[in-house]
Amino acid sequence: MTASGTVKLKPGDTIGILGGGQLGRMLAMAAARLGLKCQVFSPDPDSPAFDVVLNATCAEYADVEALELFANDVDVITYEFENVPAATAMVLAARRPVLPAQKILETTQDRLIEKDFIKRLGIGTADYADVSSVETLQSAIARIGLPAVIKTRRFGYDGKGQAIIREGDDPAQIWEELGTKSAILEAFVPFEREISVIAARSADGEVQCYDVTENEHRDHILKFSRVPAAISDALAADARAVAAKIANALDYVGVLAVELFVVAGNGGPHVLVNEIAPRVHNSGHWTLDGASISQFEQHIRAIAGWPLGKPIRHGQVTMTNLIGDDILTYEQWLTVPGATVHLYGKGAPRPGRKMGHVTEVAPAKRK
Ligand code: AMP
Repeated sequence: MTASGTVKLKPGDTIGILGGGQLGRMLAMAAARLGLKCQVFSPDPDSPAFDVVLNATCAEYADVEALELFANDVDVITYEFENVPAATAMVLAARRPVLPAQKILETTQDRLIEKDFIKRLGIGTADYADVSSVETLQSAIARIGLPAVIKTRRFGYDGKGQAIIREGDDPAQIWEELGTKSAILEAFVPFEREISVIAARSADGEVQCYDVTENEHRDHILKFSRVPAAISDALAADARAVAAKIANALDYVGVLAVELFVVAGNGGPHVLVNEIAPRVHNSGHWTLDGASISQFEQHIRAIAGWPLGKPIRHGQVTMTNLIGDDILTYEQWLTVPGATVHLYGKGAPRPGRKMGHVTEVAPAKRK
């Protein structure tokens, strides 16, 4: 820490990472390249991130003693997932700087609070309503119309905790199946494409956005990311400006991802924000091989108090996720000219489990 309270790490210092999945693993690998050490905290003894660090804490997120020991061992703390329990973040933040800051988790862990925040910034989102009962669901449907998407306010990811409601569906049954008391109803967005912006912001307010990524999902899980997105330069600039505005409003330090819908409109296509991920993101994995500085390195630089990189993209990039049994094709991928294969070292390939990814970089097309 400097006298002004901002973090300034030196090579050899240690970053604590909460969460031991592939994102934590790739963060730790990027930190190692910059001469920084990482200690990973995860309750799962099979955490893929444990394989790449010397020091690991395998304990529950509610284990205060383990959290305190972990905090004592590190110089700054970050996380690879947004559902860090508030009590965990509080214990840690009392001992070491937590970046991105704890208050950002409060905004991004709850879809209603997040949507209200985006709306207050004057940024477009799908029309939405707070839903806490069958009655409020019915009045939300009357206002927003159908089709619509109902989402639990908390703990939703990869399409979990959400359902589409169509004309003729029984709202009471859908509400019962969702099994929650707090949700939001969103207008169904007839999007042309889905895009995301990976942005990094440093403690002194510099923002660096990567080129806009176009994302294709299968069964609600990201399957392909392609860069650059097939959108106009003006729309790409709008999307990057939205991400920068969000990062600045959150006084964010680190990498964040903003997922957006591209929607046709009378005045031409425009963007609506779907959600914010306060962390490195699957749609930014292409930056490992497709840009001079990866999203993981940018995050490490930002939380270390080091200058952000000015990433240059190497060409047209496609990232393919290896999900579930896709991992069985890894040997074929290893023989594809120009392909770079990343395997996360996970155990059994369960359906929907992200096991690895492949990046292919082609020379940029001349304009
Ligand atoms: P989410 O968990 O909010 O990121 O949603 C997962 C996926 O569901 C998105 O990437 C979209 O493909 C789809 N989706 C979510 N919200 C909407 C919406 N309001 N309208 C249309 N599709 C949606």
